[in-house]
Amino acid sequence: MVSRVIPVDDFDLVIFGGTGDLARRKILPGLFRRFRSGQMPENARIIGAARSDLDDAAYRKDIKAAIVEFTAEEARPAGDLKAFLERLHYVKVDALGTDGWSALKKLVRKDVVQAFYFSVAPSLFGAIAERLHSNKIAGERARIVVEKPFGRDLESAKALNKTLRDHFDESQIYRIDHYLGKETVQNLMAVRFGNMLFEPLWNAQYVDHVQITVAETVGVDGRGAYYDKSGAMRDMVQNHLMQLLCLIAMEPPSRFDPDAVRDEKLKVIRALEPMEREDVVRGQYTGNEDTKSFVEEADNPDSLTESFIALKIAISNWRWAGVPFYLRTGKRMKARQSEISVIFKDAPHSIFGQDVEHHRNILSIRLQPNEGITLGVTIKEPGPGGMRLVDVPLDMTFAEALGPDAEDVPDAYERLIMDVIRGNQTLFMRGDEVEAAWAWTDPIINGWRDRSDRPKPYEIGSTGPEDAAVLLHKAGRRWREIKA
Ligand code: NAD
Repeated sequence: MVSRVIPVDDFDLVIFGGTGDLARRKILPGLFRRFRSGQMPENARIIGAARSDLDDAAYRKDIKAAIVEFTAEEARPAGDLKAFLERLHYVKVDALGTDGWSALKKLVRKDVVQAFYFSVAPSLFGAIAERLHSNKIAGERARIVVEKPFGRDLESAKALNKTLRDHFDESQIYRIDHYLGKETVQNLMAVRFGNMLFEPLWNAQYVDHVQITVAETVGVDGRGAYYDKSGAMRDMVQNHLMQLLCLIAMEPPSRFDPDAVRDEKLKVIRALEPMEREDVVRGQYTGNEDTKSFVEEADNPDSLTESFIALKIAISNWRWAGVPFYLRTGKRMKARQSEISVIFKDAPHSIFGQDVEHHRNILSIRLQPNEGITLGVTIKEPGPGGMRLVDVPLDMTFAEALGPDAEDVPDAYERLIMDVIRGNQTLFMRGDEVEAAWAWTDPIINGWRDRSDRPKPYEIGSTGPEDAAVLLHKAGRRWREIKA
């Protein structure tokens, strides 16, 4: 198999916050990989725009250090790195003032694709959009890319949408959710809609329940104060897990185009039933001799913020009536594991006696580690001794199935940035989707606040509070294992 790199139009990409953590860790190393794979047109440029007082040479030096830090040595040959750095420029810009805007205007070309990446605090999004507009920097082919968090509730998300739309059309606004850029997440759509095999079974008649787990081992180190105001519901569920849920639950769009896909996702969010209190478990990690507790990291002994959440969600439509969607995500858990699993119902009758009840088909989509898709099927255990059944995975670990090609799969950020340049919004959230997700989330969060709900403690390295297991046990189900 030969890797195919689809050429993109010439572009100027301006990264507001080009000296920040996200730019240094993800955006620029990702762009370097695209450059190496031959996807960057000859004249395409990247312009860092931030508050620090730097010139091109100093910026290149800084980004060189970032790429050396975040890219494996064999993946950064000196010649390639040097050629890439020559594409970099820098403008000192004050998002809240007047400094730097005319210099930026002079530098940015109007006759190519212009992508303005807002990799800055959300409080600056409006000011930057306004200045791009009033300084007449943005041309006809301009797009803006907005990082999370997109608001902290419905009201702030609406206000932010309004501010951005005052200066840009919805078709120019790219709200990034990097989960949608992951190869496996797109493969989920390919598996669902590219095969005859799954879609006929993809409904309440055949699916028992769905589980989505995003378990992290990291804590909130360094971001404690920010996270204390956010929590797992805002930081992970309202955006990332909700998007995954939509892709699993949506009706087949008529075409794989941005509005057709996003219309279907929006219908799922609008069909979510309001949550019952007993269907949510919140947790907060305690400390041990080596590691600080959540409240210590947040420097707030009275914090009521959840670092873990598990939910049982119901979707009110014909396809999913009666099928629970169990979601959980947390920090400082046993292992780093992200997985979506569709657990099918038992076969209606066992010709093998009791055994079949314990042999359900499970389609499991792993986001990390080892991206891949597995389908658990039941077969006969080989050898003599009668009909004993055993579950085996039909494994489609990409690295094995696709060989060296799988290694060249772009990571989420680089893929999404290239989609921006191409003008393809399919994998970006539309404004109404974001608002609908907040409209569902807000009453849940407000309920905790009004009742001063206290999250349940859980130990570092565990799978969350015991109550999360009970959420499934009471329906005779259990969570998929998180493997350390
Ligand atoms: P950071 O604090 O490391 O960097 C902030 C950048 O903004 C710097 O380049 C700084 O110079 C620039 N800046 C600040 N004030 C400015 C002003 N007045 N004018 C012009 N530039 C100004 O932040 P970060 O971690 O890179 O995060 C950037 C954005 O991305 C935030 O919205 C964050 O929520 C989001 N995000 C970050 C990560 C991550 O892993 N870091 C992940 C997801 C989302």
